[in-house]
Amino acid sequence: MSEKLKETVTAVKGIGEETAGALTELNIYTVEDLLEHFPFRYEDYRLRDLSDVRHDERITVAGKIQSEPVLQYYGRKRSRLTVKLLISDRFLIQAVFFNQPYLKNKLQLNGVITVTGKWDQYRRTITVSESKVGEVERKKELEPVYHVRGTLTVKGLRRLIGLALKQFGGDIDETLPPALLSRYRLLSRREAFRAIHFPKNQEDIKQARRRLVYEEFLHFQLKMQGLRKFEREHSKGIAIKYDLQDLKRFIKNLPFSLTDAQKRVVNEILKDMKSPFRMNRLLQGDVGSGKTVVAAIALYAAVSAGFQGALMVPTEILAEQHAESIQKLFEPFAVNCELLTSSVKGKKRKELLEQLQKGDIQILIGTHALIQDEVNFHRLGLVITDEQHRFGVEQRRILREKGENPDVLFMTATPIPRTLAITVFGEMDVSVINEMPAGRKQIKTFWVKDEMLDRVLGFMEKELQKGRQAYVICPLIEESDKLDVQNAIDVHTALVTYFRDRYKIGLMHGRLPGEEKDAVMKAFSANELQVLVSTTVVEVGVNVPNATMMVIYDAERFGLAQLHQLRGRVGRGSEQSYCILLANPKTDVGRERMKIMTETNDGFLLSERDLELRGPGDFFGKKQSGVPEFKLGDPVHDFRILETARNDAAILIESPVFWNGEEYASLRGVLEQSGILKGGKLD
Ligand code: ADP
Ligand code: MG
Repeated sequence: MSEKLKETVTAVKGIGEETAGALTELNIYTVEDLLEHFPFRYEDYRLRDLSDVRHDERITVAGKIQSEPVLQYYGRKRSRLTVKLLISDRFLIQAVFFNQPYLKNKLQLNGVITVTGKWDQYRRTITVSESKVGEVERKKELEPVYHVRGTLTVKGLRRLIGLALKQFGGDIDETLPPALLSRYRLLSRREAFRAIHFPKNQEDIKQARRRLVYEEFLHFQLKMQGLRKFEREHSKGIAIKYDLQDLKRFIKNLPFSLTDAQKRVVNEILKDMKSPFRMNRLLQGDVGSGKTVVAAIALYAAVSAGFQGALMVPTEILAEQHAESIQKLFEPFAVNCELLTSSVKGKKRKELLEQLQKGDIQILIGTHALIQDEVNFHRLGLVITDEQHRFGVEQRRILREKGENPDVLFMTATPIPRTLAITVFGEMDVSVINEMPAGRKQIKTFWVKDEMLDRVLGFMEKELQKGRQAYVICPLIEESDKLDVQNAIDVHTALVTYFRDRYKIGLMHGRLPGEEKDAVMKAFSANELQVLVSTTVVEVGVNVPNATMMVIYDAERFGLAQLHQLRGRVGRGSEQSYCILLANPKTDVGRERMKIMTETNDGFLLSERDLELRGPGDFFGKKQSGVPEFKLGDPVHDFRILETARNDAAILIESPVFWNGEEYASLRGVLEQSGILKGGKLD
């Protein structure tokens, strides 16, 4: 990028201090910032005839007024004006104008009006944002719409960008090498900037986006892969020389044989561990796919090579369950595996920490307790975290630093859609268990309306009579003014009344003190409680195989990924399990989501569908998403471009011409800017 574009916006003739001040509100400081403030959509002034428009599309149509306009007021300032329009002599639609009461007198029966707005396919209604009486011929068919703030208007901003392009357009230098430009027939950078801000037609927009999105993704991928290459080649990891024969004996001794998918990921993990580079791998596998045993094998490998291993999980209950099942596997092999949580106190804790430091304890399983200062390992070689998304980056780093560059394995049951994995895990290697152990019964999922609750409870009673147990999940703990949702405390009270002395009903939620939570969970595990009413705290990892039924209140309030996690609490034993979704969703998307839940038990499929319906931001929740923000590219809709950019980046990073060629200087600059490269070398 030419140095000229780094100048502050006041370098543009026509932009003074005041305007520059207004632009800072949009984080626009330099000419470059201004040029890279891309439109988020285009106002489309082509006249359409409605035969090929989609629901929710913004369109412009010209129509003949077919009815007297009807004006309604809501309060003093708010009003709604409706009128019927005939479009192309064929389609009768309704036009709605909000807060423009003065239009009433202008809309004459049989007159012509041109309207632009959002089209509702189902109601055959256009919500008008701009209109003009008469049939309008416009010079421009497409006008970019920008995010604005404060005193800036879209029109004003459009003008400023026009000025900047006029003066500095010639300074927009090419950043992509000719080879890539011609391979994909991409617009030059200069031309792309022109076309995205001032498109002549739809094709212009398409080509401009294609070029700029590719560039954006390529930069991103180069950074990711640069980091990865650096990690591989420069990190001083440890080579864990495990004893293969010993490990084979361990695997043979497991109570079941591994699935093909488990075998594959075990091999991927062992290969990393054996290599002198530091492993940085994510193990992804649906709920119940058998990640724990894979972790156990990796831990055993570390121990057989004389190292210690650590497994960190988000809750005490989960830590105990893991410790119990892993201890059982290690017992015949004389591996000392201990549990450390905040409940381990006093003398016991002191002894445990001493043994750990001496190396007498080989495997430590626990919660956040593992990352406290007082915890010191003798020779930590492998760190595993379960449900990794629950831990912050910082917590994972602290645990890693308890050893000298130990290998790291993250496990997660959150099915990250293929389309997002590339961006989210750009710098991690990923192993996927994409197969369930044989003989699992599918959980039967039903979606019913709230009115069916009585029948649901009748069904639950039958399960309880068979000696089974049930979860009942509610979105909130207490009654809330804001949301009309079932809350755990009320539901608990209602169920206690309903089942009287026949069954015992427990209550569990996030506000209970930790000890009480554990006590309730243990009582449910021991079948002292037959029904557990809970908020989503049971979501993670809990294992009570005798529970065969789950009822989820207000299921439409949850994301599909979360519903799937919750559902995974049942279906863990040999009996048929059921999941009942109580929901009265109000939107089409809401209904579609419930339907998808009843149609598949496949977490990956669900996550893909959820993503399509809701978009990536919603999928993870805004904050912890880990999905980087792109200026222009959308990792879901532009997935093919993302994939192409990833493959290209992988090839570039490994090729000498990338590191030496003059035509790649500007791409190398991207690495240099992000601190990955220093003086032309990976630092
Ligand atoms: P998750 O991936 O959700 O952590 P777990 O590791 O808890 O799953 O495994 C779920 C259940 O499946 C456990 O009871 C485990 O013993 C069992 N399991 C794991 N692998 C196999 C296998 N290959 N064959 C049969 N059962 C298995
Ligand atoms: Mg697990």
